[in-house]
Amino acid sequence: MIRVNGVLVSPGRKPVYGERMAGGYRVWDPYRSKLAALYEIGGAPDISREMVVLYLGAAHGTTVSHVADYACCVYAVEFAPGPMVNLIKTAEMMENIIPVLGDAANPASYFRLLERADILYQDVAQPGQAAIALANMAFLKPGAPFVIMLKTRCVRVESDPAMVCSESVQTLGRNGCTVERVMWLEPWHRDHAAIVGKAPLHPFTPPGEEP
Ligand code: SAM
Repeated sequence: MIRVNGVLVSPGRKPVYGERMAGGYRVWDPYRSKLAALYEIGGAPDISREMVVLYLGAAHGTTVSHVADYACCVYAVEFAPGPMVNLIKTAEMMENIIPVLGDAANPASYFRLLERADILYQDVAQPGQAAIALANMAFLKPGAPFVIMLKTRCVRVESDPAMVCSESVQTLGRNGCTVERVMWLEPWHRDHAAIVGKAPLHPFTPPGEEP
């Protein structure tokens, strides 16, 4: 990933949502983006120009826009109509963002719009985050990397964040994923863990098209 004087940036030529510029590149603020925080910590897979990204929980497109600066194209799934309005505006500025209005928990509703992705990034901040990721693994190339941002308080507010995270890791592992590492995003984002791993080595079978 690119840094200008130690500051994480993405290689866009003009601001998309009012962010600062540095050395002609867009500053990617770890306080505004969990993925930027993970790059600050280290250990996240790099995104490169040939990669197709499946992004679940796109919101207004803030982080999506930085990912799109690095990637070939980003399928950006969001189910809330409000954020989708801004996401579409962002996509109008960046032609490699494909906004998808859909529920990531029900990927059968949008699988015909997608191509197989080289990496999954998920930031849906709701219960059942591991199950949502698993439901979308079929859209990934076998063994492709994933990053799941786990907001532990959305899973169970009363439970120990480490325990919630460990349960999600076990769920992913039981279903054929390889979890490589878990990183907590303090000081930028409290009670958020990034789960980084690889998708199962299964052949691609879109939901609803099982033999
Ligand atoms: N990733 C965004 C960023 O960094 O700019 C922030 C994402 S915000 C924490 C979580 C988003 O996920 C919200 O916009 C919410 O509407 C969306 N979301 C939650 N559950 C979803 C689901 N099942 N399908 C699609 N989007 C979902």
